[in-house]
Amino acid sequence: MIYIFTGAGMAADSGLPTFRDTGGLWENYDINQVCNFSRFIKEQNVRDLTFQFYNERKLQYAAATPHAGYLAITKLQQQQPVKVITTNIDLLHETAGTSDILHLHGRVDQMSCAQCYHYWDIADHVFKSGKCEACGSAMVKPGIVFFGEMAPEYEILHWLIEDLKSTDTFVIVGTSLNVVNPIAMIRSAGKYPQIIFIDLNIPAAAKAAGVICIEESAEAGLLKWIDAIGEE
Ligand SMILES: [Zn+2]
Repeated sequence: MIYIFTGAGMAADSGLPTFRDTGGLWENYDINQVCNFSRFIKEQNVRDLTFQFYNERKLQYAAATPHAGYLAITKLQQQQPVKVITTNIDLLHETAGTSDILHLHGRVDQMSCAQCYHYWDIADHVFKSGKCEACGSAMVKPGIVFFGEMAPEYEILHWLIEDLKSTDTFVIVGTSLNVVNPIAMIRSAGKYPQIIFIDLNIPAAAKAAGVICIEESAEAGLLKWIDAIGEE
């Protein structure tokens, strides 16, 4: 089984800016304000700004086109089992035709309830206030994990890592390892799949862990790696 874990660097190659490049500001929004769970809960004006911010992101994501690296994953998945795990909230993997995708930090076509953690699809509709269809709470939010909020999908990642076999391949693409560090999770679970890391700036933590490093952008690195396994 091949697991492909993608982060912000993957989407950056399709022209979507990453949080870490913005210095905390994103088109005049303070991301520590508009992506902040406790402030969203407490402050009406932050809630309004948060909905506005994510509605703008939603438009921006919808206008982006998946690069060749995304399409190569879809093609690979037609040949063998591939599971994608992503911290990205955009739907570029889905647009590229890939299936079996775990969104660790939520996705831009869902709303969620901060009271009961019910999630529901809104497709292309805008994020807006309203009531949870499961529990009736008015504390509804974009179905995206904010700073200071629990990420329910981490548990799925944990169990998936527990199931890794030494014959599996775990490819990590375009992430800084600062928020989620799958290498540390894999090693602390005592698992030894082949690990491949693709990024222009490979973090020191990855280099130290006996990982195969491909120092290329997400798109170029993925194409190179998928080409190479096709020739084996
Ligand atoms: Zn609810």
